[in-house]
Formats: sequence, structure tokens, C-alpha cells
Amino acid sequence: MPEYKYLIVGGGMTADSAAKAIREIDSAGSIGIFSKEKHLPYNRPPLTKNLWKDLNYGKLWRSTEKLGADIHLNTNIVSLDVQKKSASDSGGKSYSYEKLLLATGGEPRKLPFSADGLIYYRSLADFESLKSLSEKKNKFLIIGGGFIGSEIAAALSMQGKDVTMVFPEELIGINVYPRDLAQFITNYYRQKGVRVAPGLQVTGIRKSGARYTVDAGQHGQIDADVVVAGIGIRPDVSLAEQAGIKTSNGIDVNEFLETSAKDVYSAGDAANFFNPHLGKRIRIEHADNANKMGRAAGLSMAGAGELYNYLPFFYSDMFELGYEAIGELNSSLQTVSDWKEKFKTGVIYYLDGGKVRGVLLWNVWGKVDAARNLIGSREEFKPEDLKNYI
Ligand SMILES: Cc1cc2nc3c(=O)[nH]c(=O)nc-3n(C[C@H](O)[C@H](O)[C@H](O)COP(=O)(O)OP(=O)(O)OC[C@H]3O[C@@H](n4cnc5c(N)ncnc54)[C@H](O)[C@@H]3O)c2cc1C
Repeated sequence: MPEYKYLIVGGGMTADSAAKAIREIDSAGSIGIFSKEKHLPYNRPPLTKNLWKDLNYGKLWRSTEKLGADIHLNTNIVSLDVQKKSASDSGGKSYSYEKLLLATGGEPRKLPFSADGLIYYRSLADFESLKSLSEKKNKFLIIGGGFIGSEIAAALSMQGKDVTMVFPEELIGINVYPRDLAQFITNYYRQKGVRVAPGLQVTGIRKSGARYTVDAGQHGQIDADVVVAGIGIRPDVSLAEQAGIKTSNGIDVNEFLETSAKDVYSAGDAANFFNPHLGKRIRIEHADNANKMGRAAGLSMAGAGELYNYLPFFYSDMFELGYEAIGELNSSLQTVSDWKEKFKTGVIYYLDGGKVRGVLLWNVWGKVDAARNLIGSREEFKPEDLKNYI
């Protein structure tokens, strides 16, 4: 049985960051990286952003191959034996490990019905399919008004495509942004030519020839050449569950990113951890967390573990709109907007009992650390105290 000192399940940003951190400490220990994907590890955020403007794959890759690891692409690890310390792939081949990382990320949530060619947008392979379709087809329907739905709708619209967005919420991002900002974003999309159909649940999709017909409640039926769904992800906990590792919303880890099984770690979109800034367990589906938590897991695995007590930030781009944000962006919290110029530049604070839980830096850059400190301070604020605070 092939033996690895470090075995990493997953071929995403977390896996790559962990392998790089291991190499900082251990230049020679064997590393095996196993990925279901056909591509080497790459950065996912450009799949809805820059790659549509500049088809330069060079900036996508993370150079994982330079680490001297065995990278097994197109390889699905299907079982884990935490007593024997081995993992097996779908071809029945087993590998032993000393330390194992579950960097299994997330799988797109699926609609309760299927249709041939429906794209659940997550991977570089999905980008390649959609890009190729965008060269031949014109009418695109996007199901979902969250991060992926709104970013891919903007990217396709900027390619001159006829784009319709359909989602059950009242406005784009209404669960994230304060109502007036969500209304502004929704209007902005419409001005950019995107047909926005909010408040609608898709109840069925049929494909007839090359056309799709989507049933969209009181909106009736919408025809499209291509249908893309971005309705969130589920953490991929299947291996952890099969191995009897504790999971809740994701794979539970302690401050050193160890799971309930000895010498098994988890990080990234799949992992659920305690965050001292927010004083609770969270799971984060963003790039900064994949990079930092992956690194922390790699250091832990190589024996140089530090507490993972970092509050990651995230970012999004929609046409020319862009922001960085940190903490809990939940529009059901009290929000305080401090605009320099309304809807153009400003800071929005999310408060719970006077304490800042989240900060949205709308077209405001270089202030993430200040926002993190503010959340971590756990001080109580009155809305007026926050004027010009950041
Ligand atoms: C299109 C897109 C745009 C994004 N844009 C932004 C953004 O603007 N800002 C931001 O902050 N974040 C963004 N994100 C989120 C960010 O990219 C993710 O948080 C990050 O990629 C998570 O990395 P991960 O390695 O933990 O998980 P994943 O990227 O999900 O990687 C997990 C990998 O493990 C593999 N795998 C899973 N199980 C197995 C198994 N059993 N055997 C073998 N392989 C397995 C999967 O195939 C996959 O390759 C975006 C995500 C997407 C999809």
C-alpha cells in the first residue's frame, strides 16, 4: 500500500495552502493530494470574475506541482479507516497516512428535478462549459440571487448575453444587504440589462431540442438556451460521516483544526470551527478562509500548529460594484449605514445588542483589519458612534 506522511483529500485552495505550509516545515515528508477534479488546484473566485474579462489561465494556477507532492487528479477518495489510518479511492486502491486533511469543500446544492445540461456552477470545468456555450448561445437563465448567481449573471451580461435571473427572495442579496442597498443593486442589474425576476420559485425545467423551458410560478414559463443554477453549497462531509468523524454544519474541528479522529484534520469550506471574534462556531465558504485555514491546518499537521483564531474576510464583484466584508452579514441584524456617497462608497455595520458583528466595506479598501478589530472588541456602540468610525 502506498504510504504518505501527509495525505490530503481535496484539490482546492485549502488543499494547496495546506501542502505549501507543510513544505515550510517539512521539506521532504511525502505528500499525497487527491482530487476528484481533472485540473490542478486553482483559484476559484476568477471563475465568475476576471476569467470572463481576460482568458488568462496563468493567474488561475497555484503551482501546487512545484511542491514535490504526488497529485492524483480524477481520483475520488471514497472511504477512510481512521483506525488503520488508510484511505481508499473508487478504484479500490488504498493509501496509508500519518496525518490526513479533509479539504473536501462543498458540493453545489441541487434542485429537486434535473435537466440535461443544467450547470451547477462551481468548477473550472463548469467555467469551460459555460464559456463555450456563451460563444454559441444567447439566452441565459440564472437560478439563484446569491453570490454565485449575481456574479455569473453580471459576467454573462458583460459578454453581451441576454440574461434573466430568477430567485425566491424579494431582491438580489436581501438576506445580506440592508433593504435600500439590495433595492439599489437590483435596480442596477436592471439598468445593466439583466431581467430580474424575484420572488419566484422554479418548479420544473424541461429540455426540448436545444431549448429549456423553466416553470417559474406566477411568472409563467421562461425560455432559455442555457440554464445555470447557483443555489448554494453543502459542505462535503460524506467521508467524515462514513469514518465516524463528528460533523454538525460541516466537519467539526478544534482550534488546531483536528477533527474528532486522531491525526485527521479539516479546513476550508468543509470545516466548522470556533471563532473567538464572533464567540461561536462557524463555517465559512470564502477564499481568504480557504487560504488561511488551509495554511493553519498544514502547519498543525507538520507539528508547528498555532491556534486558528482568525476572522476571515470576503469579497464580491458585480459589474463595476465591489466590496470587502467581514463577520456576519445578515440583514436581519440591525444595520447602520455610513455613506460617504450613497450606494457608491460607504461602510455598513451589522449590530446585535449594540455589538458590531459584521462590516461591509462598500467600495472602501484597505480597512479589513480595522473592521476585524472592531468586531473583536465586543464593545457596545450606539449607531451615531459609528459615523466615520472606519
Ligand atoms: C465560482 C466561485 C466564485 C467564488 N468567488 C469568491 C469570491 O469572490 N470571494 C470569496 O471570498 N470567495 C469566493 N468563492 C469561494 C471560495 O472560492 C471557496 O471558499 C474556496 O474555493 C473553498 O476552497 P476549499 O478548498 O475549501 O473547497 P473546494 O474549492 O470546494 O475544493 C474541494 C476540492 O476537493 C475535492 N474533493 C471533495 N471530496 C473529495 C474526495 N472524496 N476525493 C477527492 N477529491 C475530493 C473537490 O472535487 C474539490 O476539488 C467562490 C467560489 C466559487 C465556486
